[in-house]
Amino acid sequence: MSHAFNYCPNCATELQMLARMEDGGEKARLRCVACEWTHWNNPTPVLAAIVECADRDGMVLLARNAAWPGRMFALITGFMEAGETPEEGIAREVKEETNLTVDALKLVGVYDFQRMNQIIVAYHAVARGEIALSPELAEYRLYRPEDIKCWRAGTGYAVADWLTARGIEPQWVDLPARP
Ligand SMILES: [Zn+2]
Repeated sequence: MSHAFNYCPNCATELQMLARMEDGGEKARLRCVACEWTHWNNPTPVLAAIVECADRDGMVLLARNAAWPGRMFALITGFMEAGETPEEGIAREVKEETNLTVDALKLVGVYDFQRMNQIIVAYHAVARGEIALSPELAEYRLYRPEDIKCWRAGTGYAVADWLTARGIEPQWVDLPARP
């Protein structure tokens, strides 16, 4: 959930939607008239992992977020922390959320997720260990790669590309309609 910016984080003046000339032409953004701070609203990078369990016959772990309605199982995701590389960040997230230790990481691709103003950096993570979910996750399931159904949104496209690269034709499933 993102929060609206009402006041300048630099000087606490109320922000205004103001058009100004930028390199790409005139653009209206939330700006501070006192100190010229600009709310650029750049997309946030989100890390995602297709977790292959090396000690469970290569089964892929998908998890259901406790906060989600329905029974959607998805990749392990998380935000980068300051001072870590994307690889360190996704290995940390996999450990925090599943207790699995990542042995190897390979970039699958970078995916657009405009609905959430995010950009998804997706990895294939080979991991092992005892599974213990964080409280954020309600349950997990292990899938053979060929049984995973891809969803038509950010991380679903990453799964489809990963399957295709392994010679598996992706199967698609429609997401439930959002309220
Ligand atoms: Zn200001």
